[in-house]
Amino acid sequence: MQTINLISDTITKPSPAMLDYMHNAEVGDDVFCDDPTVNALQQKVAEMFGKEGALFCPSGTMTNQIAIKLHTSPLEEVICDHNSHIYQYEVGGYAFHSGVAVFPVVGQYGKISVQDIEDAIRPETDWFPKSSLVVLENSTNKGGGNYYTLDELRPIRNYTKEKNLKLHLDGARLFNVLVETGETTLEVGSQFDSISICLSKGVGTGSVLTGDRSFIARARKVRKVMGGGMRQAGYLAAAGIYALDHHVNDLARDNANAKAISEVLARLEAVDFLLPVKTNIIIFFLKDPHTAESFLYKLKEKNIIASPFDKMAIRFVFHRDITDGMMEELFDRIKSL
Ligand SMILES: *Cc1c(COP(=O)(O)O)cnc(C)c1O
Repeated sequence: MQTINLISDTITKPSPAMLDYMHNAEVGDDVFCDDPTVNALQQKVAEMFGKEGALFCPSGTMTNQIAIKLHTSPLEEVICDHNSHIYQYEVGGYAFHSGVAVFPVVGQYGKISVQDIEDAIRPETDWFPKSSLVVLENSTNKGGGNYYTLDELRPIRNYTKEKNLKLHLDGARLFNVLVETGETTLEVGSQFDSISICLSKGVGTGSVLTGDRSFIARARKVRKVMGGGMRQAGYLAAAGIYALDHHVNDLARDNANAKAISEVLARLEAVDFLLPVKTNIIIFFLKDPHTAESFLYKLKEKNIIASPFDKMAIRFVFHRDITDGMMEELFDRIKSL
């Protein structure tokens, strides 16, 4: 039985055409800004988002951590949803690298509002950290792939500007959102001081941070001190260029696959409820006596791999290496659980 791996959209392998494109990339030493393919990727992303510069990094953790470092000073505080990647999954890097605290807001399916931000801003006293940065995630990973539309982003942008807070977007899966809303990268770009996108999420490899010229100049230094200055990185950057040119629109298929499978899951006896499925992620909760552990085992018996997201919850992530044939298989295997 063929294995169907829904553990993450980071597991995709480069296609022969992508490998071919990577193989033919012209490379150089990016520490000297001398890798033409890295430069081309950075310019491409900056232009897409209407920003002055961009920086290719090994991971989305690094792009987020660089942004936090540059937008804050020690003794300050970052406002974000309590389930956000920067708070949950980056090893407390905000404290390690930047000496800042986090105010974890309990938002809705990973989204926070102007009201949430207003409630989280600290009064100016000697004993509170100073609120200085808001980080939004779009789509929201632990929120089940939920997303902000531009109409929801604009008031947050206006409010954070008024309060002198920087606004960073963890856009690891931003393209999964844009294929749903039809909104553009330029429109999203204008709403943030900096944006991180992951090319490793179902499209290719590596991550890119974009922002204004002085921000990116300082970001190069932080990337270097974190050990992320890469040489001949153009081979990986080429995968990113290829992915942006050829794979972004295919994300709509992953979103549709998630929706289709969610309907089958919802009918299972063992499933209590699902978070609303908006993009390529399904998070579902199990009924007692089932647990994430026991259900993962049942999935494994059917050669389906997924990840636990809570004691009682499991996450499926759809990606480009899930073929139409696998989808048919998946329907059958899930129905028979
Ligand atoms: C994957 C992801 C990142 C970055 O992850 P890396 O594994 O460091 O590339 C950041 N934010 C979100 C929401 C993610 O899903």
